Amino acid sequence: MVQLDNSKIVILGTGGTIAGTAAQAGDNIGYRAAQVGVDQLIRSVASLSSVLGEGNLVTEQVAQVDSKDMGFAIWRELALRCAHWLADRTVKGIVITHGTDTLEETAWFLQSVLQPGKPVVLTCAMRPATALAPDGPQNILDAVTVALDPLAMGVVAVCAGVVHSARDVQKDHPYRLDAFSSGDAGPLGFVEENAVRWVKFDEKATYLSVDSSFFAIESIVDSMPWPRVEIVMNYAGASGAMVDMLVRDGVQGLVAAGTGNGSLHQDLEAALIRAQMAGVKVVRASRCAKGRVLSHSGDRIADSHGLSPVKARVTLMLALLGLQAASPV
Ligand code: ASP
Repeated sequence: MVQLDNSKIVILGTGGTIAGTAAQAGDNIGYRAAQVGVDQLIRSVASLSSVLGEGNLVTEQVAQVDSKDMGFAIWRELALRCAHWLADRTVKGIVITHGTDTLEETAWFLQSVLQPGKPVVLTCAMRPATALAPDGPQNILDAVTVALDPLAMGVVAVCAGVVHSARDVQKDHPYRLDAFSSGDAGPLGFVEENAVRWVKFDEKATYLSVDSSFFAIESIVDSMPWPRVEIVMNYAGASGAMVDMLVRDGVQGLVAAGTGNGSLHQDLEAALIRAQMAGVKVVRASRCAKGRVLSHSGDRIADSHGLSPVKARVTLMLALLGLQAASPV
């Protein structure tokens, strides 16, 4: 068959439960993540070749990890492979198979450094590949459907037939197949019978040229080690001890996961202000699953512009690397 222009889909494997195996088919929690290669995974999606057409699928195993162990080296490699394929004009879009645990962080990292005009679709599974009814094959098919959609752009996540933006996606359930939410913002769309029903677009997303993405990624590649940014949480009886220890240990950035509207125990707040005065960059987010910190005149610690604590950490790391990440707002 003749290769049609701009119709290729690249699937990058990184591991996760979607590539997990258990000794017993009925065991949905006692499995090992990241065991099955991406080539074998896509063989379980029988209708993929009819959706894509012959010769239009490329696969690459970028990593093979349980995403609880995701780290900077894999993020760098993943960003580089995405940039490589996004620059190929025969490529329509990219699908990344990923564990659910840190999917939202990888999604926000990739959106921040790539801001791609083409779709980069992260997908996953809550049941291992050996489960009685694995959810991975349908999620892969749905992710490819989104990557092929003419209206798709930027980094999104697809799970259980729901499309989420990189900015809003958040794992909000440790067991259910529909484990993700977009919080107050709501999803971007739904995948139904090999078609996407968009309900909105990510109005805040910005898109970069491929050259600009390469510039951002090169800065990351050259930066070793990455800046150290930690998250501290507010809770009843919180103290500043952890912050003081981290400052002594050379932390460069701190995200405070505050209670409610980013509120902080007075002792924790005092320690964070001391850290700020010592040159540590400090940002205040909310530990609430929905909503955002609303800033108020007189705030002594900047808020995260609506980003969750883990995504605020990604943005703060990129800022410390001198990169202007995707606008949080
Ligand atoms: N621990 C697994 C991972 O994040 C969970 C999953 O993929 O659902 O890789």
